Amino acid sequence: MKLQQVAAVAALVAVALAATTASAVTFEVSNTASSTAGGQRFDQAFGLDYSKQVLSDASTFIWAIFNQPSEADRRPVDTVTLVVEDIGERIAFTIGNGIHLGAQYVGGISGDVKTEVSGVLYHEAVHVWQWGLQDYDVHPWIFEGIADYVRLKADYVPGHWVAAGGGDKWDKGYDVTARFLDYCDSLKAGFVAEMNGKLRDGYSDDYFVQILGKSVEQLWNDYKAKYSQG
Ligand SMILES: [Zn+2]
Repeated sequence: MKLQQVAAVAALVAVALAATTASAVTFEVSNTASSTAGGQRFDQAFGLDYSKQVLSDASTFIWAIFNQPSEADRRPVDTVTLVVEDIGERIAFTIGNGIHLGAQYVGGISGDVKTEVSGVLYHEAVHVWQWGLQDYDVHPWIFEGIADYVRLKADYVPGHWVAAGGGDKWDKGYDVTARFLDYCDSLKAGFVAEMNGKLRDGYSDDYFVQILGKSVEQLWNDYKAKYSQG
């Protein structure tokens, strides 16, 4: 082959490899609550195929937020599963690579089902991909904060969240911590990606100092001061 042809073939191989990498994760979804009102609403207003698409989009989005362009950077996950089931009044939870979504919760959504459920799935998908969950029981707030930070960046903020600057302490978790992490990321783009990478070894307050040069207490005070002026 001429050099140009070799280059063309090499480019094609590169494209094929990239496609393989992107599709290396399988998304499996099922609904074991199809006989319930909530399960039926899920099938009608969201559906299994749409779930796969949302989980795939969410994973790509999370890898971008975490600055994990290649598979080698990520948690080694081949399959992400979603089961819609009767879990009482709980909204959702994730164990390992398995997301569990509450049928009763879906049945009770008063807003747009696609928007609300997508937001929950983005949050739960973060728990599949984030590092450091061995430390979850001791420092749940940082992991829930990062999960809601991704939901915030994906523009799936539900109506009940605090506004930016809201909340009493950085380690409240969820929306309060997500807003605070968004502030930290505004000080240094990629803060959350760096934090997630460090969490691989478990959580430490010192990560805030290492990444931003200030203690988490100082950052929180700066953050509250910024929003108390308006
Ligand atoms: Zn969570």
